[in-house]
Amino acid sequence: MSFKSGFISIVGRPNVGKSTLLNNITGEKIAIMSDKPQTTRNTIKAVITGDEHQIVFIDTPGIHKPKNKLGDFMVNIAVETLNEVDVVLFLVEAQNLKPGPGDLFIVEQLKNVKSKVFLVINKIDLIDKSQLLPLISAYKDLMNFEALIPISALKDEKQDPLISEILKVLPEGPKYFPEDMMTDQPEKLIAAELIREKILHLVSDEVPHGVGVEVISFKQRDDKDIINIQANIYCEKDTHKGILIGKGGSMLKRIGSLSRTEIENLLGIQVFLELWVKVKPDWRNSEQMLKVLGYRK
Ligand code: GDP
Ligand code: MG
Repeated sequence: MSFKSGFISIVGRPNVGKSTLLNNITGEKIAIMSDKPQTTRNTIKAVITGDEHQIVFIDTPGIHKPKNKLGDFMVNIAVETLNEVDVVLFLVEAQNLKPGPGDLFIVEQLKNVKSKVFLVINKIDLIDKSQLLPLISAYKDLMNFEALIPISALKDEKQDPLISEILKVLPEGPKYFPEDMMTDQPEKLIAAELIREKILHLVSDEVPHGVGVEVISFKQRDDKDIINIQANIYCEKDTHKGILIGKGGSMLKRIGSLSRTEIENLLGIQVFLELWVKVKPDWRNSEQMLKVLGYRK
């Protein structure tokens, strides 16, 4: 039997019900997580695992009309991120009689996205069924949606029709996370912090202050009880990179083995840790890097 897995992101104006939908799909457990504003680029919000599938919901930066260059930049990042998922759920509100300016702006961005886009019309409990058709046809005129699903994230018991539409287009893929893992966010962040802590201990002088750690991949292997973790260590200068790597890679090895031991203790599972050192001059002043590393202003 083939296993299907993939990444889904939920976009839409504020207040359309994105968090409510996520909670509805995953159950209560995730509620606290999703209430926390996350600015990390590929923050994984929730994972649901069945016998034959695993669906990973990820967070993307909000899409809204940019007010300046930085805003432009963030919208571009958001749209790029949307290209990396399998399905984008575009959430809109049923009680609007037609797409509003905020929705239209998002549609314009979604037209450039290569991933499959589902239109999810939420809050249908608030409207008369007859209202739905004109709204659907207004959206259909705007772009070609892969699927069109009316829901009530608040009142529906489950989201079976939505999930089954997702499963129709989900590719074959591995089980990225252990089935009991609802979100990898805390583990992933803690792993990054543990690595940074080891660097603070092992490396002296001004180097550590310019160091940021990003866990870029955190996956359980299909065949074994091992979690593969890949992380980038960012520093500001070539000389710092040299120090962090050490003679013949000796320093990076020490950082790696101490970090690995601690992460294994934390997760209670064997860890295979890969580290890379990268130079990003002045990253502490880079909006993008701060976000990548999960720092918020
Ligand atoms: P987000 O900003 O997109 O994450 O929106 P939230 O999930 O925080 O929801 C915003 C508001 O809409 C909350 O008060 C929800 O209770 C409400 N809401 C969400 N989904 C529905 C729905 O299907 N029906 C109704 N009546 N209200 C909903
Ligand atoms: Mg929300």
